[in-house]
Amino acid sequence: MSGIHHERGPSSASRWLHCGGSLTFSPSGEAGPEALEGTRLHDVAANLLRVKYHLDVPDALGVIEADEVVTTYLDFVEEQIASLNDPEIHIELYCPPTDIKDFGGTIDCLLIDDDLGHIIDLKTGFKFVAAKDNEQLLCYTLLAKKRFPQLKQFRQSIVQPRINFSSTVSCSLEELLEFEQRIKSVDKTDFAAGSHCDFCPGLGDCPAADRNLVQIMSYAKS
Ligand code: SF4
Repeated sequence: MSGIHHERGPSSASRWLHCGGSLTFSPSGEAGPEALEGTRLHDVAANLLRVKYHLDVPDALGVIEADEVVTTYLDFVEEQIASLNDPEIHIELYCPPTDIKDFGGTIDCLLIDDDLGHIIDLKTGFKFVAAKDNEQLLCYTLLAKKRFPQLKQFRQSIVQPRINFSSTVSCSLEELLEFEQRIKSVDKTDFAAGSHCDFCPGLGDCPAADRNLVQIMSYAKS
């Protein structure tokens, strides 16, 4: 995965879209073991896809082996590629910020078939993540649209090998443009406590969270 971090990154969208004030706190700490393992699995999967589809392969790539998580993801991606009409394949595609300040990120896999963009996101954890109305996936979709303006149809998939689950949804251009307006309206002076506080670097220093601590703790337990 790209190590480039942007303040309005897709992976934390479910927090900053609901509390713009959280953008005033810098992410803290180093990645834990789960995150490091997730990065390793993403790297292995990306390199195997690059080799298979003759994309840009890093020079010093040794022998790489896929475990079950990676194999499940690769099978899914390969199925989607086979179902399209010779799509463009982008693996670990970095999309830098354009007209929205600090809004950028890296898409695990983007397939482009004419005006259709299909985003595929690998999740290596055990926690179920829904694809429908998924703000992280919508961020990736918008980043893809900014990078490839010809896209007019959008499909998004989440692949969760550890719980043997995958799902695919779609959204229209209108829905995506509405989502873009939501991102543009995020205001760093607005603080709103909620379940998203659980993942906020400001938790502990934030007066808005302190006032709602009991409620936040109840979210964490549920
Ligand atoms: S702790 Fe909660 S209310 Fe405070 S900045 Fe973070 S997300 Fe917002």
